[in-house]
Amino acid sequence: MTHEAPPSPSTALRPALPSPLQETGDERFTSRGLRLLLKRDDLIHPDIPGNKWRKLTPNLEAAAGRPVLTFGGAYSNHLRAVAAAGRLLGFDTIGVVRGDELAGRPLNPSLAQCAADGMRLHFTDRAAYRAKRDPVVLARILREATGDSTPDDVYVVPEGGSNAPAVLGCADLGRELSPETGGAGSGAHVVGVACGTGGTLAGLAAGLPRGRRAIGFPVLRGGFLGEEIRALQRAAFGGPAGDWSLDERFHFGGYARTPPELDAFAADFEQRHGLAVERLYVAKMLYGLTALAEEGAFPAGASVTAVITGRPAP
Ligand SMILES: *Cc1c(COP(=O)(O)O)cnc(C)c1O
Repeated sequence: MTHEAPPSPSTALRPALPSPLQETGDERFTSRGLRLLLKRDDLIHPDIPGNKWRKLTPNLEAAAGRPVLTFGGAYSNHLRAVAAAGRLLGFDTIGVVRGDELAGRPLNPSLAQCAADGMRLHFTDRAAYRAKRDPVVLARILREATGDSTPDDVYVVPEGGSNAPAVLGCADLGRELSPETGGAGSGAHVVGVACGTGGTLAGLAAGLPRGRRAIGFPVLRGGFLGEEIRALQRAAFGGPAGDWSLDERFHFGGYARTPPELDAFAADFEQRHGLAVERLYVAKMLYGLTALAEEGAFPAGASVTAVITGRPAP
């Protein structure tokens, strides 16, 4: 009898990596002597797109087949990605969803997709959800969601999937943007990324070659994200890593707010460049980069790379 090691999650999921880097010729940039490139992380995997693939696979490696429990809101891209990975790789998934008022109601399309992929959904009240980093609260949520499991029986991935392994996974995104690996030419170079938890930015900035910098566009209001990103970098790298900053002006009112002006911008971008623009994150980042170009924030000759972190929800 032979014992073959099972393929690692990152191999078994057959990602298309490195993701393509596309020139746009966008005249709002070219007229100022700039290039706008799109890093198409949305094309990495049909069911686990973008930064979710980069953040999740190192965690699945660590989970080693144990059930994975994670957290998200009712429209969470992260929950859908975890559920899809569980279906494709054959491990159990438990999704703790914010808002116990949702229990017993018909599932929205995003949660219905999670359930169809075999995820067990557990709705929790907002106070417990907020306090989920407290070990006592987490132990209680675990008991309620899984019956008699102890913290050792399940692998817990934090909300949005951002922890040290995820940040290390996202460093590959930065490495793919170095000139040696086919990244955008030489010279001044800026990379824009939308931020929820900031895990993607934390890793991206660390992986970028010297002389390149990352700009994060938070989609939530609050101004707390810089400290979270520093904490994620301490956990992953032991200290600060890479050149990054945040531009907090483009949240458009907060998470899941998509006012008409943003929607019109995104629809126009789709027309110009022929890709579907995800509205909650990607549209805000593209709007921010375009506004910065128009403000003269980038020197002529610079390349601006926009990371397309995901696709519109089903
Ligand atoms: C989850 C998500 C993000 C946010 O990533 P963080 O690492 O949490 O900052 C950005 N874009 C898309 C499309 C996402 O689904």
